[in-house]
Amino acid sequence: MADPHTDQQPMIRLENVTKTYPGVDEPAVADLSLDVHAGEIVVLLGPSGCGKTTTMRMINRLIEPTSGRIYIDGADVTNVDPDELRRHIGYVIQQVGLLPHLTVGANIGMVPKALGWDKKRTDDRVTELLALLGLDPPESYRRRYPKQLSGGQQQRVGVARALAADPPVMLMDEPFGALDPIIRDRLQDEFLTLQQQIHKTIVFVTHDIEEALKLGDRIAIFGTGGRIAQFDTPIKLLTEPADEFVASFIGAGSSVRLLGLQHVEELPLQAVDTVEDEQQASQHLDGKRVLLTDGGRPARWLPALADGQVATVRGGQTLYQALDAMLTAHDDLAVVTDEDGRVLGGLSMDTVLRHVPSDEAGGG
Ligand code: ADP
Ligand code: MG
Repeated sequence: MADPHTDQQPMIRLENVTKTYPGVDEPAVADLSLDVHAGEIVVLLGPSGCGKTTTMRMINRLIEPTSGRIYIDGADVTNVDPDELRRHIGYVIQQVGLLPHLTVGANIGMVPKALGWDKKRTDDRVTELLALLGLDPPESYRRRYPKQLSGGQQQRVGVARALAADPPVMLMDEPFGALDPIIRDRLQDEFLTLQQQIHKTIVFVTHDIEEALKLGDRIAIFGTGGRIAQFDTPIKLLTEPADEFVASFIGAGSSVRLLGLQHVEELPLQAVDTVEDEQQASQHLDGKRVLLTDGGRPARWLPALADGQVATVRGGQTLYQALDAMLTAHDDLAVVTDEDGRVLGGLSMDTVLRHVPSDEAGGG
């Protein structure tokens, strides 16, 4: 497949970047080169201490590289005033970093204020962002102080603040790392939905493989000493890990993880016989089953299955969800529907199983 990005200038480019902290022999980041395309989420994944935060902070120049070059949208960041640079790069960190003595509204409005926006424009932007991040009603949330919010709400405010001046680039350093698993999962989903609307160029740091696979368009797995072991799409990492280090980092269960990354519409569907009227069903019942539909939507199988359920998945759902629906309905066929719930066809368990790469190809 041709890479649609090859002709395009990357939004972020790291070129042979090295950072050696004073008094430390080993570099924290060593000769790192990495391109991030416009509108892409690139995840930096690796164990604690591998240089992820150092890399992020070099991109917005909270840390100066020892050597190498960093470009944003073609411009060398070392030639830009650091304060000016940071107003055009959103930065979200795990500790959130909201100022406790300022209201939520004032926290979100910090960068617009620094950019000299007038009060009305800033207020409108704060309202828009609070609504966008699900902090409704905005008029109530903007007046609160950070400590009057839950951890998940504070993190939403942190994201809103980073988005305030609509920067093209966002750096997110383990932003959901301190949240409990259910809230984290919800924020990840919201974040993906949001990204479909705002198309930011995002560098996202995590040490959590599940989070990386879920959010990343591409993932850079850091090895030791600030070097990249592999930089690839989630599916490539799972099916073709570059070496033992990557394979062991991804760990067991890559086949199940692949199921969660592939969508039902990527597989061939089979025809499903449907009838809208149960009376007509007898004509079709020559040993095969028929799906009784109601306005094009699945109602039940004829003859009825033991537990009467129809395993149903929507087109955009994953193979994991399709298998889950089949297992729940004790059936080996899932009915695939469109957005409105109308029948598109059937997906058999056999088709799903044949689509999962063998263990050999999966690298264990
Ligand atoms: P990560 O975010 O992947 O956990 P960091 O970038 O924070 O890793 O750190 C990378 C390495 O650099 C670690 O070994 C860390 O101890 C070291 N390090 C980070 N900041 C400093 C500093 N200010 N001075 C010296 N060493 C540092
Ligand atoms: Mg870190």
